[in-house]
Amino acid sequence: MEHRADLAIVGAGILGLAHAYEAARKGLHVVVFERSLHASGASVRNLGMIWPVGQPHGSLHELALRSRARWLEVLRDSHLPYWPEGSLHVVYREDEAEVAREFAEIAPGLGYPCAWLNADQVRARSNAVQSQGLIGGLWSETELTVDPRVTLARLPGYLAEKFGVEVRFASNVRRVEPPLIEAGSECWKADHVIVCSGEDFESLYPGAYAQSGLTRVKLQMLRTEPQPGSWRLGPALAAGLTLRFYPAFNVCTRLPALKRRIREETPEYDRWGIHGLVSQTEAGELTLGDSHEYGLWVDIFNKEEVDDLILRYVSGFLRAPSMKIAQRWYGVYAKHPEQPYLSLDAAPGVKIVTSPGGSGMTLSFGVAARTIEEMGL
Ligand SMILES: Cc1cc2nc3c(=O)[nH]c(=O)nc-3n(C[C@H](O)[C@H](O)[C@H](O)COP(=O)(O)OP(=O)(O)OC[C@H]3O[C@@H](n4cnc5c(N)ncnc54)[C@H](O)[C@@H]3O)c2cc1C
Repeated sequence: MEHRADLAIVGAGILGLAHAYEAARKGLHVVVFERSLHASGASVRNLGMIWPVGQPHGSLHELALRSRARWLEVLRDSHLPYWPEGSLHVVYREDEAEVAREFAEIAPGLGYPCAWLNADQVRARSNAVQSQGLIGGLWSETELTVDPRVTLARLPGYLAEKFGVEVRFASNVRRVEPPLIEAGSECWKADHVIVCSGEDFESLYPGAYAQSGLTRVKLQMLRTEPQPGSWRLGPALAAGLTLRFYPAFNVCTRLPALKRRIREETPEYDRWGIHGLVSQTEAGELTLGDSHEYGLWVDIFNKEEVDDLILRYVSGFLRAPSMKIAQRWYGVYAKHPEQPYLSLDAAPGVKIVTSPGGSGMTLSFGVAARTIEEMGL
């Protein structure tokens, strides 16, 4: 039997589903193919942080805010859980405080609603911050947290019910020659195809990927057991090491000195690209991250040293009822050395959209809206 759709999407990670949403809300008949039984790529392995404050000012920050607005629309309409609690970067060293204060001075003029808080003001916003040695923090109101595993599991059902999107799991796309698509045991015809295959560079259009300059990044992650009772984290937490990680903070003149001190004092954090982030799931677990190892080849074995460093750093600023670790895993995302994400015409009617790097949750819906506009759909 032959199946037909206006648009076929490869991959049911967040990019694939966001593209399905943007196309389906315009009235297109969309089919999504996912090779696994459940999405199991970067989109279910992340912290679930929709994090505009990390994006550099200008077009990418605007894209993140556009994406955030769409996220809110989808989350509300689908009744998926989310926590619009903002974020805190908490600081314990004077050089970190200088960067956070400087950003709080400059950034509101660049469109970031954020402010410097002293230690008492941080404590008033969060029960989850270690008090000892706390100088203050950067408060930003635009960050949302979603539970990635819950979101990616339920979003396909919402898209199917509300817009008639067909999501085919356990359906590996082997051949794309528009209008023909071979996926699992089915043959489909679709006028347009968007390939959101994450860090799989080998299966479809390997030549285009090989020339693209894309690489892989491996991140180690940990998760606590559910916190007791109804204890909630409040704002998602980051700290001093994160100030050197997100490009938004590159506007700060004090940043090079902070980076230098970290490099000299704690080179192991630079070696493994570690910074400390904390978010909370629907079940109350705390997700703790993360590290960054770059290269096409991904070491399938985790390093205990890296987990120890993450845990030690996070324990320096997080105060939670239980720090008992219940899960450890790693995730891999695709990254381009210069571009914030890759969008390329692989063949007539076929677009590859991938590699939003460590900001795929944040940018997904904005990138998808842009792609659908560019394709004139
Ligand atoms: C540990 C970790 C933490 C992160 N934290 C955050 C965060 O807090 N905030 C943020 O903004 N970003 C974060 N990111 C980045 C974000 O998770 C990724 O950028 C994003 O999930 C990428 O989505 P994707 O849909 O491109 O890829 P994926 O989620 O990997 O999805 C690709 C899908 O395509 C499927 N597929 C591939 N080939 C085929 C084929 N031929 N046929 C059928 N299916 C196929 C795969 O099975 C997979 O399910 C994090 C990433 C990691 C790894």
